Amino acid sequence: MSRNPELFERALRTIPGGVNSPVRAFRSVGGAPRFIRRAQGPYLWDADGTRYIDYIGSWGPAILGHAHPEVVRAVQDAAAGGLSFGTPTEAEIEIAEAIVARIPSIEKVRLVSSGTEATMTAIRLARGFTGRPKIVKFEGCYHGHADSLLVKAGSGLLTFGNPTSAGVPPEFIQHTLVLDYNRLASVEEAFQRHGPEIACVIVEPIAGNMNLVKPAPGFLAGLRKLCTDHGALLIFDEVMTGFRVGPQGVQGLTGIRPDLTTLAKIIGGGMPIGAFGGRADIMEQIAPVGPVYQAGTLSGNPVAVAAGLATLRLLSAPGFYDALTARTARLVSGLTERARAAGVPFSADYAGGLFGLYFSATIPTSLAEVSRCDIERFNRFFHGMLDRGVHFAPSAFEAGFVSAAHDDAVIDATLDAAQAVFATL
Ligand SMILES: *Cc1c(COP(=O)(O)O)cnc(C)c1O
Repeated sequence: MSRNPELFERALRTIPGGVNSPVRAFRSVGGAPRFIRRAQGPYLWDADGTRYIDYIGSWGPAILGHAHPEVVRAVQDAAAGGLSFGTPTEAEIEIAEAIVARIPSIEKVRLVSSGTEATMTAIRLARGFTGRPKIVKFEGCYHGHADSLLVKAGSGLLTFGNPTSAGVPPEFIQHTLVLDYNRLASVEEAFQRHGPEIACVIVEPIAGNMNLVKPAPGFLAGLRKLCTDHGALLIFDEVMTGFRVGPQGVQGLTGIRPDLTTLAKIIGGGMPIGAFGGRADIMEQIAPVGPVYQAGTLSGNPVAVAAGLATLRLLSAPGFYDALTARTARLVSGLTERARAAGVPFSADYAGGLFGLYFSATIPTSLAEVSRCDIERFNRFFHGMLDRGVHFAPSAFEAGFVSAAHDDAVIDATLDAAQAVFATL
């Protein structure tokens, strides 16, 4: 008897839905989530001791694989010196310097404790800097769970069919304009109509919360130009893509410079962290130098900063992203070939260590197209793979994550399992 259903039953008694974040639930695929006891490299082990190849990677942070010895050592050393001080530390300067040195659009950066805090504050800062109320976001992009951003906001909400959360009064989102991803014409129209009122455009420059959807050619450049022309700020939410798709995020791949960038996930190496940064003149509007308030008891936590610094150091090894991208390419092309051989309509896409699998013959370019994929078939694929020891995210609206620990043997084992599963679909 597996312990997972038993643990799930027990969790349901004291934790809403049995999970501490809705994307962990198996509600859309069915069954009980696996309760993970430990992880190492590309693998997870559940409460039964069953091993899984992991393509969730803690939803992004685990780019080096789980429990990388150098990251674990950095955490242990930091923890032994005290868990939190509530005073400045030298390590905070080091991680700020590391981020500023790596991401060209970031001149100054502030640390927070999650991606949600980073985007929430970046929006407040954009409004404070411009003195304007409205923000533009795109359908299917998730920017954390702050009220004004929780409109048509990607995977968790999509999986459960709620366009917008209950508990958000309409007044709180009256200044949020929600447009279609990859449709520049609608952004032009929004600026024509509301230009002087728009503080910022926030976008996932590669969308990773409605499965994976890449920006169409000219989309990001068009956003940049519209923002510049109308005096609005462009915010790249690189919480997922930062240090995931390449050493400088999407802005490194495209050469397009946002005014503000939000980061989290990888920069904490698995510990809770977030950051927002950008042009110095904008960042100087933040307290204590400027009038836009933001604070955090655990911001810049020494243990999280140590994990982040160790991770960023390892990511700057020469050739790291070339090797990671080659792994992801091998996975994606191998899955596509095997699906084709089995006659299953399937496509896949990737950037660096981030990938999307679609049960549709063509790669989607919008939320509407992602929603038309064969979700029921994905669910069968998901469970077939799980039964064969491969753990993908439990939703057709999620992207997947490859780590540096996913070597050729791990990818090949995944492809063997997929071949068997595709044959049953
Ligand atoms: C994960 C994510 C967030 C939220 O980060 P949390 O740390 O979960 O609050 C925001 N934006 C994007 C693009 C994300 O992928």
